[in-house]
Amino acid sequence: MKKISLLGATGSIGIQTVDILLNNQDNFQLVALSSGKNIEKTREIISQLNPELVSVQEEQDAIELSKEFPRTSFTFGAKGLVEVATHPGSTVLVNAVLGSVGLESTLAAIRMGKTIAIANKETLVTAGHLVMAEAKKYNVTILPVDSEHSAIFQSMNGENPKQIERLILTASGGSFRDKTREELKNVTVKDALNHPNWSMGAKITIDSATMMNKGLEVIEAHVLFGMPFEKIDVLLHKESIIHSLVEYHDTSVIAQLGTPDMRVPIQYALSYPDRFPLKSGTRLDLAKIGQLRFQEVDFERFRALKLAYDAGRAGGTLLTAMNAANEAAVGLFLQGKITFLQIEEMIEQIMINHHNTLLPDLETILYVDNETRKSVESMVK
Ligand code: NDP
Ligand code: MG
Repeated sequence: MKKISLLGATGSIGIQTVDILLNNQDNFQLVALSSGKNIEKTREIISQLNPELVSVQEEQDAIELSKEFPRTSFTFGAKGLVEVATHPGSTVLVNAVLGSVGLESTLAAIRMGKTIAIANKETLVTAGHLVMAEAKKYNVTILPVDSEHSAIFQSMNGENPKQIERLILTASGGSFRDKTREELKNVTVKDALNHPNWSMGAKITIDSATMMNKGLEVIEAHVLFGMPFEKIDVLLHKESIIHSLVEYHDTSVIAQLGTPDMRVPIQYALSYPDRFPLKSGTRLDLAKIGQLRFQEVDFERFRALKLAYDAGRAGGTLLTAMNAANEAAVGLFLQGKITFLQIEEMIEQIMINHHNTLLPDLETILYVDNETRKSVESMVK
């Protein structure tokens, strides 16, 4: 029985994780969870899985819930995320919270020796060197939940990582993949939220439309697999059937395929090294799909992807600044305060003005994250 702490239980990844836990109650037990402001969903999950500890964003919600569920302990805010992540009853942390807010709880769980199943890519982008150094020090395994990284991880099983020629991350291209830059000027939030292949949270759906999501994933791959940026490529693949590929020195390419369903990589991160049947999973029918298409990426068209490669190559606090600028700008776009193209304009502006510090410590990272968000907010005022 694996005992699990889950951060971000009420989100897109969180709800799918709960679905897997409900369907595998002989293998997994949820001992602690965090949510944000969706109290209705939090109630539902508590009733279904009876965790010992729950953290919500607001103190008032924690007080209300503790009256309803007297057998569960409640906490709240940033310290609550750390308490859930370090709950002494769990051995695995599934981090599905959104954004760099997940960083401190990830580090705290690593120091407790917990296995980390990570969906929260912003944590790896903003402070990858700290997370990986702590994981090494505490001998902790970090398992990818992101579908591309799960595919790469699966394509490396039993192989010698030194014999890898390059990693190839596939990209659907997001909601606007068939639009020119000119056509991007007038797109709306509603258009951007309409992803062709995947149903995901709002922020990552916008990141997919700008391709910053792929940029964050290139950095995530660099952090997780220790590959230099010149050996990480992106390939447009409209059908999202091949989830990523690994090329070896002998020109062999190994890939992982499947219907686009995040429950597959989530469950694999939990069941690894085993594979469990996936309840109501859709089997891949390649004959029915007929063809898989591929196309080279145009870095002029998808400028955010280029910015991410630039930040990745430079390293340091530029990564934190880029990530925080993106989180803040996407937030403003979702609130209707800026246009779609202003997202990447703002990120670029932040990056141009940034004074880079290499190998920053946690304090510096948190400072740059906070200051960058303030700078982005002040750009709209
Ligand atoms: P969602 O927006 O759907 O969910 C985010 C979760 O985090 C919710 O539970 C939300 O709570 C909680 N949350 C948000 N802000 C805070 C905060 N400040 N404090 C505490 N809790 C907070 O996101 P996704 O599930 O789409 O994405 C989660 C992570 O997984 C991201 O890093 C994303 O990049 C990554 N990912 C997602 C994929 C997907 O298919 N969705 C695929 C691959 C990676 P509440 O809703 O209750 O307010
Ligand atoms: Mg992905």
